[in-house]
Amino acid sequence: MPVDLSPDATEAEAYAAADAWVREHLPADVLKAALGAEWPEVAAFVADPERSTPWFAALGDAGLSSPTWPCEHGGLGLSAASAGAVTEAVTQYRVGRTMADFVGLALAGPTIIAHGTAAQKERFLGPLARGEHRWCQLFSEPGAGSDLAGLSTRAEQQADGTWVVNGQKVWSSFAHLSDFGLLMARTDPSLPKHRGITYFLVDMTTPGVEARPLRQMTGHAEFNEVFLTEVELPADAVLGELNGGWAVAITTLMQERNGLTGRPAVGDGKADELLRRAHGNGSLEEPVLRDRLLRMLVEERALQMTTLRAYAEAGRGAAGAEGSVRKLVNAQLEEEAGALAAEVDPLTALSWPAGGAVPAPVEEFLAMKTTSIAGGTSEIQRNIIAERLLGLPKDPDPEKDKPFSERPRTS
Ligand SMILES: Cc1cc2nc3c(=O)[nH]c(=O)nc-3n(C[C@H](O)[C@H](O)[C@H](O)COP(=O)(O)OP(=O)(O)OC[C@H]3O[C@@H](n4cnc5c(N)ncnc54)[C@H](O)[C@@H]3O)c2cc1C
Repeated sequence: MPVDLSPDATEAEAYAAADAWVREHLPADVLKAALGAEWPEVAAFVADPERSTPWFAALGDAGLSSPTWPCEHGGLGLSAASAGAVTEAVTQYRVGRTMADFVGLALAGPTIIAHGTAAQKERFLGPLARGEHRWCQLFSEPGAGSDLAGLSTRAEQQADGTWVVNGQKVWSSFAHLSDFGLLMARTDPSLPKHRGITYFLVDMTTPGVEARPLRQMTGHAEFNEVFLTEVELPADAVLGELNGGWAVAITTLMQERNGLTGRPAVGDGKADELLRRAHGNGSLEEPVLRDRLLRMLVEERALQMTTLRAYAEAGRGAAGAEGSVRKLVNAQLEEEAGALAAEVDPLTALSWPAGGAVPAPVEEFLAMKTTSIAGGTSEIQRNIIAERLLGLPKDPDPEKDKPFSERPRTS
């Protein structure tokens, strides 16, 4: 049953309705833990599928997991700013959907809404909102990351309209846990590289799809290599136009960039958390460290306000080339936060019991580059800013209009 909110609800109304709903429906022990800032207990609830599965289903039925989506597809039809307020209300209790659902909720949903057929919307959006399906993004390849349009995974159409896919993807986050994948594959190598690509929605249980986890330096294994061997896809797996996959991918990439710029709310952030730690262990007394922490606090607040403004100005979708500026700044802040995490608490960062879990400051230090690579590197964001916002000339590409099959191989 969706929360009783008009699509024209203001941010304050949206926040109040979502907050009241969470207080009413969250299991009492978890609400008590959240109100008492007992975060390990809240995290245990979210990590326990027996308890969190029904909770996420209820959150989805209420429209609170996908507040910008149309009402008929599991959303509340809210503006980006009011939807941000909903997310903020849920996030304060730390009981929203996790990072493993980022691709599904932030990328797959909006891309299917923009390009899907009625049948695709009907099939995928409701289960996505309720947390029944997890999605992964099968874009990057060993030879195609920043130059995504250089991808060589091949999909060949059969006489009956079905497809056979062969190729390899890499860095596919949570693919080993996913039910469906967003796949870009080359369908016509005789066309120039951006024009011969088609976008597919892939059932990850299809024979021939094999996800192999890759161990990261944080010790986790969230990434995968995904091998696609003679994978048969039905004709209705195509999302958007045949050979028009690049335009569909742009929707996904803009959403991704936008989703990696922090939430549209001004308040407690990474700098605040680092300041609390520094205050707690006395390192805040160190003037150079204090200066860096306060500088980061100011920059983080400025980014939060810019993100909030971008959402408010953009109505029901905040994606655009301007998102590159925010993603670039967010990536820089995350790097600084990773470095500061270790400097605020050097003893924990340098020594922890053998065999014990990696402590938070070490994990944050090791993961500091995440946002400067994922969703398009910082160099690529600078290129987008230069070309699309500043109007500078594009990098020359003399092969641009050549058929993909006639271009020299770069890898
Ligand atoms: C945490 C994380 C999660 C990810 N999740 C996914 C996922 O789920 N699905 C998926 O498909 N991919 C995923 N990726 C992959 C990510 O999109 C790519 O790593 C990224 O696009 C860069 O591609 P690459 O690694 O091939 O580097 P390359 O493209 O080889 O780049 C190498 C270096 O060259 C620079 N460079 C390249 N081209 C240019 C240029 N034209 N101008 C200036 N500099 C340039 C880059 O900035 C970089 O520093 C993830 C990556 C990370 C870090």
